Amino acid sequence: MIVLPLLAAALTFQTAAPPTPPRFESGRAWEHLRQLVAIGPRPSGSPAIEQTRKYIKDQLAAMGLTALEQAWDDETPIDKVHMVNLSIVIPGARKERIVFAGHYDTKLFRQFRFVGASDGASSAAFLLELARILKARKSPFTIELLFLDGEEARLPDWQGTDNTYGSRHYVEMAKRDGSLAAIKALILVDMIGDRDLDIRRDENSTPWLTDAIWAAAKHQDLDDSFLAESTRIEDDHLPFLAAGVPSVDVIDLDYDAWHTAKDNLDAVSARSLQIVGDAIVGALPAIEARLIKQSQIALVHKTTVRRKAPRKDYAIRLAQHRHHRRGLRRKADVVTMGH
Ligand SMILES: [Zn+2]
Repeated sequence: MIVLPLLAAALTFQTAAPPTPPRFESGRAWEHLRQLVAIGPRPSGSPAIEQTRKYIKDQLAAMGLTALEQAWDDETPIDKVHMVNLSIVIPGARKERIVFAGHYDTKLFRQFRFVGASDGASSAAFLLELARILKARKSPFTIELLFLDGEEARLPDWQGTDNTYGSRHYVEMAKRDGSLAAIKALILVDMIGDRDLDIRRDENSTPWLTDAIWAAAKHQDLDDSFLAESTRIEDDHLPFLAAGVPSVDVIDLDYDAWHTAKDNLDAVSARSLQIVGDAIVGALPAIEARLIKQSQIALVHKTTVRRKAPRKDYAIRLAQHRHHRRGLRRKADVVTMGH
């Protein structure tokens, strides 16, 4: 009975829809992609991935953002590899955060030169441009941009735990230090550079997050690239989903050049980066509005629980008060008797 008026009252506090961020500029993202590809193959643990990190950190520093390094050594089926996740945090009105993630390593191939223009460069380039526009915006939630290492399997095939090293490590550490609970949503991008962009809904992803991005795409007439069909993807979002974080993977795995020497600049386009940028950036206000509503409902729930507590406190205090008075009276009796 108390819940309903309170709920209505709390929901009226709902502020105007969060602002749309400045426009994602694919020209800038494309330049990052080109620079990353120019470094050459960038497998985990290589001098080239160290150079890649330097590029990412330098670009972020130029925007006034400091990247935090999360470094560890991981055992893979073939060797021990030094891995590093890079993260930057852009504070918003709330401490709770929305994480945008993507991997920046490329798959290790010894038999040919693999530069991963879509598979590795596109996600890192995308996050760099996202950092620029989100830094310029007042966001209701804190934003974290997470550049993940070790997404690729070290062996030729994707098997068991020989993949997603960076995301598994990140989630493990976030559980340990208690920061995981503040992550309200994860938006993962992977292989978004494909010139012929076909992104399918991923059945492992959280439906409402997927719906938000697909609705924003449809609203901007991008449904030629964001298809209604579904597929099921294993990627860096799985450790987050297993830990209870709503997550979505935006990935185009329908890519002829996948894991071949052809995953180079010829197979990707700035236009594809623009389409994904417009869809994700366009969906952000709706995602934030949904999370704000969720937190208000949670707040109302807490408030109603708290309303009951003072009554209990009052009853206890009243009893203590009576007891205290009784004690005083007894003392008074003693005094009287003493006279
Ligand atoms: Zn790959």
